[in-house]
Order: sequence, then C-alpha cells, then structure tokens
Amino acid sequence: MPAIRMDGKALAEKLRLQIAEEVKAFGDAVCLATVLVGDDPASHIYVTRKHEACAEAGIESRDHRFPAATPESAVLDVLEELNADDAVDGILVQLPLPEHMDEAKVTLAVDATKDVDGFHPLNAGRLFLGEPLLVPATPLGIMALMEEYEVELKGKDAVVIGRSEIVGKPIAMLLLAQHATVTICHSRTVGLLDHARRADVLVAAVGKPGLVTREMVKPGAVVIDVAMNRTENGLVGDVEKDVAEVAGFLTPVPGSVGPMTIAMLLRNTLTAAQHRRQGVALSGS
Ligand code: NAP
Repeated sequence: MPAIRMDGKALAEKLRLQIAEEVKAFGDAVCLATVLVGDDPASHIYVTRKHEACAEAGIESRDHRFPAATPESAVLDVLEELNADDAVDGILVQLPLPEHMDEAKVTLAVDATKDVDGFHPLNAGRLFLGEPLLVPATPLGIMALMEEYEVELKGKDAVVIGRSEIVGKPIAMLLLAQHATVTICHSRTVGLLDHARRADVLVAAVGKPGLVTREMVKPGAVVIDVAMNRTENGLVGDVEKDVAEVAGFLTPVPGSVGPMTIAMLLRNTLTAAQHRRQGVALSGS
C-alpha cells in the first residue's frame, strides 16, 4: 500500500485560520518585523510569503530589506531599534546573510523574547532543558503534523539526518521530549543506511536530492522530508519518490513541511506577543 501523504498544506490552512481567530481575540495588535539583506531571489519570495501570511492572519508586519553591501553595523542598529520598539512582537532575520556578516552575531542581536526563529541561546537552552519558549518553526510544524496524523512516538526509534540549529537539533530535542529514542546522523556518520533502516520515524533535513533511498526505509516508517532542493525538475526533497512504496507516512515536497513552517512562524509571533505583553505561560508546543 502506498504511504499516506501527510498533508501539511491543509493542516497549515486550518492552523492559520485558528491563529487568525486567536489574534482577533488577543485584543491588541500583533506585529512581526522581518529583516532581509541581499538579493537572494528565494529569500525574497519566502519573506514576501511570510508577509502575506501575516496579513491573512491579521498580524501586522514590517518589511526591512537592505542591499547586499549594507554594513553589518547598520543591520545591528535596525535590530536594536526593533528590540526597543514595544509595538514589535517578533523579529525574523532571513538567512542566509551576505558573506561579510557574522550570522551568529546578527541572530544573537535579536531580543530573546522576540526571537520567533528560536535561535537565541536562551530559547535553544530552554528547549534543551525541556522548558521550551520559542522553538524553530520548521520542527514545530513537523511535530504538529505528527500529532495530526496521530503518530505514536513513545519508545519509537527516531532517526534525524542533519544536525543544524534550525532543523536537525531542535527536532531531535522535540522527539526526545515525546519519549522517542533519538539518533542524530550527519555528514560524518558511518553506516547511515543501517541507522536509517532502524527508524520508525525518519527525518531527512540535509539538502541532497536522492539521499534517502527506498533501501534505507523500514517498511511502514514515518518519513519526514524537510529539504527544499531547487533542481532542473523543480523543487524536490532529500527522499526518493519510490520511498512512497515502503513508507507508512510521507511528507510530499513541496506542500507539506514548507507550509507548516509558515503557519508556525505565525504561531510563534502570537506566542511571543502573549508572553511579552500578557505574561502567558508558554508550553512551546
Ligand atoms: P544545513 O544547515 O546545511 O545542514 C545540513 C545537515 O546535513 C548538516 O548537519 C550536515 O552534516 C548534514 N549532511 C550533509 N551531508 C550529509 C550526508 N551525506 N549524510 C548525512 N548528513 C549529511 O541545512 P538546514 O538548514 O538544516 O536545511 C536542510 C534542508 O532543509 C535544506 O534543503 C533546506 O532548504 C531545508 N529546509 C526546509 C525548511 C522548510 O520550511 N521546509 C526549513 C528549513 C530548512 P554536518 O553537520 O556534518 O555538516
């Protein structure tokens, strides 16, 4: 039987409507500011989509775009202003930044309470400690998808391929918090095939088309394809198409994890607003 396609597009639409209702009920304006430096066309598309999604959800947004040659100090100045601006609830620095900028330094300059990407050490540390505040949107979206499809995680073997701060490490922490037994693989992992074949839940977050082949997937496994690789055949993930013949569940690319990421960015913006303005306790999930 072919794998069940996990429809992140439909779930994201549902969540966005829910978030819009919650924004209305919040009673105060909620605002996301984005900062984009350079002329990477994909980044411009992503940021534009984020603003459209904000508008639909009733979230105000501010769009700061700078030419690639902008000095790092100018971007840090803008972040300082946004940090100090009480009307701004969330700040997102679109990555990648131009090469002359220190990405870690710039992302660290975002106030932890407005860090809707969940990159700040305070937010990363809280996730590590099992007390999440603001968690990166893509892993949050993956967990919401698994909840929607009632994927049992307790005691299951979860294998995450990729160890980035934005996907691999945080999704590993979230899976661990749900009592999965988690293995993190990366470019130096020996015997990737054997690790992957053990997985009840396999998360591929690498950025290499065709990395996950049918032989690497345990029959019936839940396969989450996070990657977005631009190829001459369009947007593809890391997982080969025929994996659908062995997996139990599979996220299509495009149209599953991507839309969930945007929905969770809206969720994080509202969460940041609730936390900062009303002192609402955060569960982070
Ligand atoms: P990244 O920072 O480049 O990390 C890639 C990871 O893959 C690294 O940890 C790397 O290992 C590992 N890796 C590289 N080659 C490998 C191999 N042959 N075997 C096993 N592991 C290998 O990428 P990222 O930011 O996490 O993004 C990963 C993918 O997800 C990209 O395609 C990106 O576009 C996509 N993405 C999608 C969304 C969404 O909303 N759908 C959001 C974020 C990212 P080392 O650490 O050893 O180098």
